[in-house]
Amino acid sequence: MMIADRLNRISESETIAMAKLGRALKAEGKDIISLSFGEPDFFTPEHIKKAAIEAIKNNFTFYTPVAGIPDLKEAIKVKFERDNQLQYNTDQIVVSTGAKNSIINAVLALVNPGDEVIIPKPFWVSYADMVYLAEGKCVFLDTRVSADYKITPEQLEAAITPKTKLFMFSSPNNPSGMVYSADELRALADVFERHPHVYILSDEIYEHINFIGRHTSIATFGTLINRTVTVNGVSKAFSMTGWRIGYIGAPKAIAYACEKLQSQFTSGTNAIAQKAAIAALLGDMKPTRDMCASFMKRRNLCFDILKTIPDMKLNMPDGAFYLFPDVSAFYGKSYNGTTIRNSQELCMYLLNEVYVVTVAGSAFGNDDCIRFSYATSEDNLVKAMNRIKDALMKLS
Ligand code: PMP
Ligand code: GLU
Repeated sequence: MMIADRLNRISESETIAMAKLGRALKAEGKDIISLSFGEPDFFTPEHIKKAAIEAIKNNFTFYTPVAGIPDLKEAIKVKFERDNQLQYNTDQIVVSTGAKNSIINAVLALVNPGDEVIIPKPFWVSYADMVYLAEGKCVFLDTRVSADYKITPEQLEAAITPKTKLFMFSSPNNPSGMVYSADELRALADVFERHPHVYILSDEIYEHINFIGRHTSIATFGTLINRTVTVNGVSKAFSMTGWRIGYIGAPKAIAYACEKLQSQFTSGTNAIAQKAAIAALLGDMKPTRDMCASFMKRRNLCFDILKTIPDMKLNMPDGAFYLFPDVSAFYGKSYNGTTIRNSQELCMYLLNEVYVVTVAGSAFGNDDCIRFSYATSEDNLVKAMNRIKDALMKLS
């Protein structure tokens, strides 16, 4: 086979594959509503676009330092102090081509073949495959919808072995919308304090899409800042998915390792987008607050319709823009000769029957569930939720 073995260890990102399928069917003229992609549907705020236009006018179009331009790193330092009470020096900050790039850098920088990486389920689609690329071993932790998909400190403690290298998680969580409280994070942090060989990757990309108040960074507890990679970016908070800016704050050795990787892979990310990111991080946060308010309204709207579906088990998401209901009660049921046996089949049933694009829970490590992204208009959401309800109620 021509393709290298390492590619057999991973699959194409399911969120991206479903979004691609939705686009193709729409282009064929089908009345598709896509709830597959985790992407805010708002435009990037004006002041951010203006900064990019200025950068182009000023010919800011050359290669940049690999880890990011100094004024962006300074802005990120200020942001970490202001929003997260985290003190990272600029030599502990690395800017990358999206948080996705930041995460794979950190995983490749930390994980040796055979190392164990603890990942609570459900997890963002790319975590496991990134670990497999690094030839690490995933140790998954199960959670239940009735416990808001949260792990317990006891579960974490029991999973740690001498081979554990890394713990990876996101809060607010993609795909469940769950947000750990400060007390819950402190309890997990206490476990890590007892196991100083474990590093933590805290993916905080949904920090500002939080419906319950203050965001807490796990690196604020005890001595954890010395072994936590705090990941963030501008994609979600500022509706800048296509600009491709992500960043980390990390211990100096890890930051340097990521910079070294990047010096061979991508070089510094897009110069113009870096200037725009400064405007995002240091500028007016009102557009972000407004987007968050819209997401909360949409969450309520979807939740109110979904909770009327008998047998669907649902948590109330406190952040991000996803719903992750447990739909396993519909497995084994049929309509028109089609029997649903798992999340993938339910996902295809919703697509074929009512033209709603979703993502199977199996992509996030939980085959009992299905993910809906509610980052689309209220009109679309009402239509989609009712279509989903109709399709599910037809199954018997
Ligand atoms: N982490 C999580 C949990 C996400 O949902 C996403 C969205 N793609 C990312 C990281 C990556 O974001 P980006 O690369 O657009 O910055
Ligand atoms: N994070 C988004 C999602 O989960 C974007 C897709 C991706 O990067 O995989 O849908």
